[in-house]
Amino acid sequence: MSMSRSLHACERLSVPALRQLLRDTDTLLFDCDGVVWRGADALPGAAATLNALLRTPGKRVFFLTNNSSATRAGHADKLRRLGVRLPGGGDDDDDDPQRSVYGTAHCAPLFLLLQRQQEQQQEEKQRPYKVYLIGSEAMASALEEAGIPFVGGPGPEVDLGWPPEKPELDPDVRAVLLGFDRHFSYAKMVRAVAYLRDPACAFVATNTDTCLPLEGDRVIPGTGSLLAALECASQRKAAIVGKPSEFMFECVLRAEKVARERCLMVGDRLDTDILMGTQCGLPTLLVLTGVSTLAEAQACRDSNDHERQKLAPTYVIDSIADLLPAIDEL
Ligand SMILES: [Mg+2]
Repeated sequence: MSMSRSLHACERLSVPALRQLLRDTDTLLFDCDGVVWRGADALPGAAATLNALLRTPGKRVFFLTNNSSATRAGHADKLRRLGVRLPGGGDDDDDDPQRSVYGTAHCAPLFLLLQRQQEQQQEEKQRPYKVYLIGSEAMASALEEAGIPFVGGPGPEVDLGWPPEKPELDPDVRAVLLGFDRHFSYAKMVRAVAYLRDPACAFVATNTDTCLPLEGDRVIPGTGSLLAALECASQRKAAIVGKPSEFMFECVLRAEKVARERCLMVGDRLDTDILMGTQCGLPTLLVLTGVSTLAEAQACRDSNDHERQKLAPTYVIDSIADLLPAIDEL
């Protein structure tokens, strides 16, 4: 109990304590929205802090984002535009800057392929496999890149009239994949529900974030809101690719030589970033530039409910810029 409590202490760190934490850490996993940027703008000091870390020998940085609206290349471009100098990308350099980025558009096809592999082991003869996609251009191109055929996809779905006609279903569809879709509609729900009536059809979603904070104080509905509608309509629960699922961290572990016991998860949301860290057994660092507040974190720490305690971070700082003075003297 004392061990698990110290992982959820919400401890405020002084510069020397932060320096020690960084000395004990090789790999820093950063959420993006509310940590590195908010909407289109970088958070103050974020780029300088990340660049200082990236310059420090032995430190590696990865970005884990639930945002499914951009490909790896798209997220890497945004980081560069905001002043973050990602490693790799030089002429005589095999290292690809995109390798630093793990978004749900990239991880969802990996999840489907793994699930598919497990299914195939139980099948006598291989059946065709397609996905019904409710999601963005980025998700469509990630599926294409992974060689997974799909129907549906970005843009509006064919209107089925009223009352809705019975949709024509593709008999090869074996999974419904939902990510952020600004064209989410009743027509898409009707089609997805028709596929999901078959219990053998898998139901996978990128993430459960209820809302998306933008620049200023604006907040818009997130993928979790679309997912709630589809879960309600289908009376099924989706498997989740993004945080708090451990899968994104497993994607990093599979692709990179990373010492699990020397990783730190940094994020702004208790129910996604911090909970993922907890579930992966990692120390966690909450920044207060995004969704969750210090009061919420402390309430989780002080709760008697074991499930709520898991949402409390190990450490708290105001913003990732607070790491900068500790990095300078590593
Ligand atoms: Mg965030």
